[in-house]
Amino acid sequence: MITGKTKVLAVIGNPVDHSMSPVFQNAGIGAAGVDYVYTAFPVLEESLGDAVAGMKAMGICGINVTIPHKEAVMKYLDYIDKDAEILGAVNTIVNNNGVLTGYNTDVKGFIGGMKQIGFSPRNKQAVLLGAGGAARAVIWGLIQEKVAGLTIGVRNVSKARPLVEYFSKYIKIVLLDWSTPEFDEALVKAQLLVNATPLGMYPHVAAMPPVNWDKVPRGILAYDIIYTPAETLFLKTAREHGCQILNGEAMLVGQGAESFRLWTGIKLDTGLMAKALRQALADKVS
Ligand code: NAP
Repeated sequence: MITGKTKVLAVIGNPVDHSMSPVFQNAGIGAAGVDYVYTAFPVLEESLGDAVAGMKAMGICGINVTIPHKEAVMKYLDYIDKDAEILGAVNTIVNNNGVLTGYNTDVKGFIGGMKQIGFSPRNKQAVLLGAGGAARAVIWGLIQEKVAGLTIGVRNVSKARPLVEYFSKYIKIVLLDWSTPEFDEALVKAQLLVNATPLGMYPHVAAMPPVNWDKVPRGILAYDIIYTPAETLFLKTAREHGCQILNGEAMLVGQGAESFRLWTGIKLDTGLMAKALRQALADKVS
């Protein structure tokens, strides 16, 4: 029951009404029997500073931040955690008695998804498709997990170059046009293939990044960070090719569970949260 003592958590973004965070966070909160409620506030870009000040004024103990505020919110915070600093984006704000610290939990979400199925990228050759905002968390996660080599395939190499140069101080990254024979050769050596493009995301379910599957070794892990549909065309093709597959549900729920842990110290049941997410997504498209 919500009472005057219930602590408020929320996601801010614009738009934010499509966010699945309230669904799986409240499922986790309910199962844990803790006195929190998680909601969503649409915040215009020009009101972002006011929204952060309001968080302090009203003693809201935790906020998730989504598009388009992940970078812009950083200037309103007192401290920025290392992962968020490196990614240049905050998705979680912790309010500790009026002191606001920004974190980015996407890295833990991305890596946690693989760990849940017993896969470690350590000493493995990884190939990543896409070099946008989500790819930053993927790259930093793979670097921290000590991947042996990383090749990134994109449609526009010059656009992706600044991102690759930024992370090249930590690991050698090969950046290639994904339509070239050189990229096909990288696929031959891949032990992990990650899709961090939106290609195949609902409603454009017939799309898929242009992977030459003949070159992809059977049995490797194909990880699509998209979570709707649950099986993208990329994952369906990978499964039929003989790959192990993983979608973005565990990453999404994992980043949320890590946010909740930062706010409260409590570990929520991610299995139950994923189930609530899956049900809500199925209801949405049916
Ligand atoms: P983004 O910045 O818009 O794009 C990522 C990459 O995909 C870029 O390299 C972009 O190339 C490429 N791309 C986009 N549209 C393309 C197209 N039509 N053809 C070829 N390449 C294309 O997206 P993002 O914010 O990184 O998100 C990527 C995906 O990750 C989304 O589907 C999102 O839902 C998902 N995601 C999942 C989670 C999770 O928790 N599971 C978290 C974050 C994001 P250009 O730069 O050339 O446009």
